[in-house]
Amino acid sequence: MKLTNSRLLNCKFWLDIFFPNRCPCCGKVIVWDRLLCEDCKSNLPFLDDTPWQMRYAEKAGESPFVFDYAVSAFAYEDIAVDGIYTLKNGIGANFAEYAGEILCDKLENDGKSRVDIVTAVPMSRRKKNARGYNQAELLAKHIAKALDLQTDFKILKRTSDSLEQHKLDSRQRHEFAQKIYYKNPKSAPIKDKAVILCDDVFTTGATMNKCSSILKDMGAKEVYCVSICCTDKKFSTPEE
Ligand SMILES: [Zn+2]
Repeated sequence: MKLTNSRLLNCKFWLDIFFPNRCPCCGKVIVWDRLLCEDCKSNLPFLDDTPWQMRYAEKAGESPFVFDYAVSAFAYEDIAVDGIYTLKNGIGANFAEYAGEILCDKLENDGKSRVDIVTAVPMSRRKKNARGYNQAELLAKHIAKALDLQTDFKILKRTSDSLEQHKLDSRQRHEFAQKIYYKNPKSAPIKDKAVILCDDVFTTGATMNKCSSILKDMGAKEVYCVSICCTDKKFSTPEE
């Protein structure tokens, strides 16, 4: 075994001694180098290969989507909801990594894996300071690493706000997104670049659409929206 592959050099191996590795969906203790338990792996609500235009079209409502492609790994239901919950509460990083693997396969299968930049929907500074990280950036980092791409989280910004988005209906979410996301004036140029935009849950698409339109206004050639979960047509409302 090469020294660089040795588990003795893997920080996950050492962390496991003090903080046992757990399945992000059910909480069961799992081997240090696993991401989920086998039961949850087989019970996750994987999305089928329905063409993306069909899957997301009904969510667009009065604001046609401007992005060029979208993909999610799971339906936002059952244990995938638990995975998102733990991801937002600091103990579900495994879920972002596992979803990242599924999403990279889908991107490669759909011929969308060769892009220039991977970015993420920004979080307000207040919320990011409180949580310690942005779960959308966590997903973006796993995807960029797996596809050997660069991340850039200084393209988009979000105002601080006290509104809880999960209480808004679809129209209100689109109006809200219009107001809170904007271009970072200090962003590096992205003209003619293809961009992967990551988020945790695709609900109405209001957030992804607004961020995509900013990227397009900045000159992005293509924008691919990548999310861990997608709510169904009945529109459930994930916690922000
Ligand atoms: Zn499990």
